[in-house]
Amino acid sequence: MISNRQGIGLVSGPPELSLTGRKATAEDATSHARYVLSTRGTQVIEMGRYRFNREKEFARKVRWSCVKKRKSKCTAFVTTIEGAVVKYNQKHNHNTEPCFGVSQRGERNLIIGDHRYNKEKTTGCKTRWVCSKKRSKRCNAFVITLDDVIVKTGGEHMHIM
Ligand SMILES: [Zn+2]
Ligand SMILES: [Zn+2]
Repeated sequence: MISNRQGIGLVSGPPELSLTGRKATAEDATSHARYVLSTRGTQVIEMGRYRFNREKEFARKVRWSCVKKRKSKCTAFVTTIEGAVVKYNQKHNHNTEPCFGVSQRGERNLIIGDHRYNKEKTTGCKTRWVCSKKRSKRCNAFVITLDDVIVKTGGEHMHIM
């Protein structure tokens, strides 16, 4: 039973976030997911810098595919059950180029995909950046830049976003 009906069920109000006892990573993703209406009036999920179209549903489960699926052949997708994100495959093949930004406290940071890195230390033209979730999620992902060019990435994100 697969249907492609658009915009049913979840349109009104915020989704019910009913994740209890599931993996922390899924909770993470759910708290970052926003249900918004696209310019065409269909419902999409927004996760960080990415948007997902409703693709198909099976029983209570809905699969959402990245809006760049066709254009960029992106394979990233989100699965929700009753509005709660239970799976986020974030293998986006676009918008992944790093960019530098400025935090609210005026410090420079580095953004790659859905992850933000804070400057840890600078030695000459070399800078070590650590994931902004280093403390809260004990994440050990890091990036080294030389004159703002990424020369090394390491560690692994212990969280989704
Ligand atoms: Zn994508
Ligand atoms: Zn991380």
